Amino acid sequence: MPHDIRMPALFLGHGNPMNALHDNAHTHRWAALGAALPKPRAVLCISAHWYVPATAVTANAQPRTIHDFGGFPQALHEVQYPAPGAPELAARVAKLLEPVPVALEHGWGLDHGTWSILVHMYPDANVPVIQLSIDETKDASWHYRTARVLAPLRDEGVLIIGSGNLVHNLHTYAWGHRKVEPYDWAVRFETKARDLLRPGNFAPLVAYEALGRDAMLAAPTPEHYLPLLYVLAQYHDHDPVSFPVEGFDGGSISMLAVQLG
Ligand code: ZN
Repeated sequence: MPHDIRMPALFLGHGNPMNALHDNAHTHRWAALGAALPKPRAVLCISAHWYVPATAVTANAQPRTIHDFGGFPQALHEVQYPAPGAPELAARVAKLLEPVPVALEHGWGLDHGTWSILVHMYPDANVPVIQLSIDETKDASWHYRTARVLAPLRDEGVLIIGSGNLVHNLHTYAWGHRKVEPYDWAVRFETKARDLLRPGNFAPLVAYEALGRDAMLAAPTPEHYLPLLYVLAQYHDHDPVSFPVEGFDGGSISMLAVQLG
């Protein structure tokens, strides 16, 4: 579908699931982004929390809200995000990704990586949303290369969102209300990533495991980092790179957002 405006592509750090209910500096920025960006025809979200041994896309007309966590208050389990799906867009994504086999999935829905942010960005849940899984059997460079074929969607009114966290280390995360300073390795890794992102120098970020100990502490498991690569793969020449949300939570979660375009 032709669309007048090339949509940006967004990596968002979702952090603690409780952000869905919170009213804080990060959630305010998400709401401001939703209000400021051109209204998308649909959202395609690549969430850290759909990390499975296959590539799949949600194809339900009415995806359910998945509460994929434990140990959180009942109020979080009661959140519903009734955005419609977009089965025709799911089919288009599967077509673009050929020859990668893509399952049209009816069992999954919207997980908290998606709705904890979208309840702030699009609180009326009136923008159709689909999710694309991250195949846990593939390496970072495969994800980056494969995701590049999705770039035409930006010209079709689709907002591509990668939802993870650039720095995500739950072993060192300070749960609870205590305010802690970010770890030095966390700040170093985020600073390094920003320095690479601004001029569009993505190759070292794709090969992030070669960035040393700071990278291993920042992304001890890949699933919260890989959504960033799905977004970087949407880069068009001359896209400005900006950071519309910044900050750390609990010392070891970067809430950094990266916007292309
Ligand atoms: Zn998460």
